[in-house]
Amino acid sequence: MRENNKGVLAMSKILIIGAGGVAAVTIKKCARLTEMFSEIYLASRTVSKCEALQAEVGIDRVKKVYAVDADHAHEVEAVINDCNPDLVVNLALPYQDLAIMDACLACHVDYLDTANYEPKDVAKFEYSWQWAYQERFAEKGLMALLGSGFDPGVTNVYTAYAAKHYFDEIHTLDIVDCNGGDHGQAFATNFNPEINIREITQRGRYWQDGEWLETEPLSVREDLHYQNIGTRASYLMYHEELESIVKHFPTIKRARFWMTFGDAYLNHLKVLEGIGMTSIEPIDFNGQQIAPLEFLKAVLPNPGSLAEGYTGMTCIGTYITGIKDGQEKTIFIYNNCEHAVCNEEVGSQAVSYTTGVPAMIGAALMLNGTWRQAGVVNMEQMDPDPFMKMLNEHGLPWHVMECDSSPFSK
Ligand code: NDP
Repeated sequence: MRENNKGVLAMSKILIIGAGGVAAVTIKKCARLTEMFSEIYLASRTVSKCEALQAEVGIDRVKKVYAVDADHAHEVEAVINDCNPDLVVNLALPYQDLAIMDACLACHVDYLDTANYEPKDVAKFEYSWQWAYQERFAEKGLMALLGSGFDPGVTNVYTAYAAKHYFDEIHTLDIVDCNGGDHGQAFATNFNPEINIREITQRGRYWQDGEWLETEPLSVREDLHYQNIGTRASYLMYHEELESIVKHFPTIKRARFWMTFGDAYLNHLKVLEGIGMTSIEPIDFNGQQIAPLEFLKAVLPNPGSLAEGYTGMTCIGTYITGIKDGQEKTIFIYNNCEHAVCNEEVGSQAVSYTTGVPAMIGAALMLNGTWRQAGVVNMEQMDPDPFMKMLNEHGLPWHVMECDSSPFSK
């Protein structure tokens, strides 16, 4: 329940947009918290997917479903006007972020997402488009919370938590993302294949002494040890949370992001790239314009279908080095999440789970007023403590490890 400005308990209604792998987790988690999320509405492009989730969760919890093309703000506005939510949770694709933000402004409602806006025709990851909404949200007293997934999301909150409790000043940050699981498929991505492949085929980028430095795609490698998994080849990539974290923690001298990939995955990717299947440039096929990557998405396994039989776990965390009481120190904050445990709990694999749970937590903190700031807000700008508490309570427990030294060779 949400306390309004007269101190009266009010209903907390959310509208979730998107009915894919991540949304399935968020809906199931929200549905259990009946007092926090009193009414849930669900809208997506393919309404049958919304109906299937509604049938699974119960019509008493997901009150109504809608077909919506969220590329068009006026379609989103029509849904918002029909169900009148307190918060719109955008779990569709990054392409829809701006149209959904426009609809939220027009209808005077708060906004949350898990991935920053990308134009469909350029694989470009930056916050400029969404940060440009700052004044419009602030003027209306509305809040737009950006990137409430795991990375971005939890990794930003880990950074804020470390800054608050472990350091006087942060100097270096290395986010590491390892999926040590095995889904038994020759090649599959763990979240939307189109968005995933756009992300990993771009040039690497990291922050060093006040500027962004670029590397060839997946050309910088470190063999890192991951708790409860072992040593895995980890590749430097660009990831969107680096941009907001270095903005909000200006003492950071170097910020990097690493992700693990197995040889089989990289070989498949190399072949697919080599034959042009990862291109986003549309080609003419039998008189129809199609982007090869969109076609590839259609033939790859649906990430939501990988959960059954998925073994192993993820380990995602943040190495932070800095100064406390004049002494240099390094800590690692991380979570392990087991695919089979997620499947048993909500019928999903760990990558959907580690994104869907933080989306639920961000929504809960906004609705109960714990996280409240007018404008466009990145996760690390808010008090990390209530979020960290909820991670422990809702399936993503974290650990802090004090390290003798940094695990990176350079
Ligand atoms: P899916 O492809 O499984 O789901 C996306 C959903 O959005 C689908 O239901 C799709 O509809 C719907 N959708 C797509 N286009 C539109 C549109 N124009 N209008 C309405 N609905 C639309 O993706 P995931 O669940 O794997 O990912 C969801 C989001 O989470 C993505 O933005 C992804 O980048 C982000 N993410 C964030 C992570 C983090 O840690 N921060 C990690 C993983 C993902 P349809 O069923 O018709 O295709």
